[in-house]
Amino acid sequence: MYLSLGNSKDIVSFKEALFKGLAPDKSLYFPTKIDKLSNDFWKNLKKMNTTSLAYEVLRNFTKKEIPKENLFEIIKKTIDFDFPTVSVEKNLYSLELFHGPTMAFKDVGAKFMSGCMNYFIEAENFKNKVTVLVATSGDTGGAVANGFSGVDGVDVVILYPKGRVSEIQELQLTTLGKNVSALEIDGYFDECQEMVKKSFLDSDLNEKLILTSANSINIARLIPQMLYYFIAYKNLNIENLEVVFSVPSGNFGNLCAGMLAKKMGLPINHFVASTNKNDTVPNFMKTGEYKKQKTISTITNAMDVGDPSNFVRILRLYNNDFQKLKKELTAYSFSDKETISGMQELYFKSKYLLDPHGSTAYLGLKKYLVNNPRKIGVFLETAHPIKFLETVENAIEKKIRIPEKILKLRKKKKEKTCIKNYKELKSFLLSNN
Ligand SMILES: *Cc1c(COP(=O)(O)O)cnc(C)c1O
Repeated sequence: MYLSLGNSKDIVSFKEALFKGLAPDKSLYFPTKIDKLSNDFWKNLKKMNTTSLAYEVLRNFTKKEIPKENLFEIIKKTIDFDFPTVSVEKNLYSLELFHGPTMAFKDVGAKFMSGCMNYFIEAENFKNKVTVLVATSGDTGGAVANGFSGVDGVDVVILYPKGRVSEIQELQLTTLGKNVSALEIDGYFDECQEMVKKSFLDSDLNEKLILTSANSINIARLIPQMLYYFIAYKNLNIENLEVVFSVPSGNFGNLCAGMLAKKMGLPINHFVASTNKNDTVPNFMKTGEYKKQKTISTITNAMDVGDPSNFVRILRLYNNDFQKLKKELTAYSFSDKETISGMQELYFKSKYLLDPHGSTAYLGLKKYLVNNPRKIGVFLETAHPIKFLETVENAIEKKIRIPEKILKLRKKKKEKTCIKNYKELKSFLLSNN
């Protein structure tokens, strides 16, 4: 079961949390309890294939609501690509999460969510169409568009900030057509997110549509992200070693998922949250005071978030105990200049090419390991460098080869609608149905 973080008496099923996205009081849903995995699970971990491992973890969050065979099928489709851990320096690994269809880690959350929705829509024969509304700072849009493209009974509407997503990101969310619409907003990601939140609270809209969100505020996107950490642990032979994960963070969903994995018993020694100049959380970790900020545009656009939604979930996991959180989490903020030098450093030293987001995670990890040299470090490489072509090529002063997948995308026609304000969004949603 899931409770609203604003009102612990508001308890809903997985299905309700999945379709509602946000609780009526605007707060996020969170599992009422997180059980440790059984001894048998840990004993068999190394022998299990990835799908079975994923099933054993995720079934705890859907319980009887999705039958075993269906959940297994959903998981198989969700993680039908690799998650390699690549050694880049001594005791330092890159966990590559970009081998999915849109070349960023968000494919996993989006595919799992669409799979679960598809299951309920078919099993319960929904009469009305579901509208998935999502704000994106770059990668969410493409992943959600791809995850839901062609799913019967679902329309997808994506809001993105004009001129603030990369060329490839924009192509990925504007060229699918069919049940996917892309709306361009003249503003920042936070404004897109605000409009999405406003729609959920609009009683008029909610009377006429089944509206749901596919942002990481949706618990169904967050939960499967735990798998990255389990898979890395399984792949690296790091038993009895202290392992640190560095996570490039924006809305803090990915980090929160790692902390959930730890809560289930995964022996993670420490977390590093690496941000860009949107340093709300690094400041919080210094002062204990949460002050949301206006968003700043950076070269790591998927992390341009001034008021990260998932941070309340993290606080909940630590029972709002600042000292306890401080023991397990270190947060650093990096400038664009530092991010570029991180890419250069690793490329010229080890010939390993980072995307800018992965670079912040790499820098954070290095910084933390200076004082903790015996620990094993894993940083999450969340996107393929090709998604940030210009930045990457400028950093290493070299052209990189463009994969076939992207060349094909460039030939397609972009389709988008410009939206100026909430009123226009509302009429779009109503006319779209
Ligand atoms: C979304 C995204 C992030 C940030 O993840 P959060 O879960 O929002 O913290 C980092 N890197 C890339 C490439 C992303 O797409």
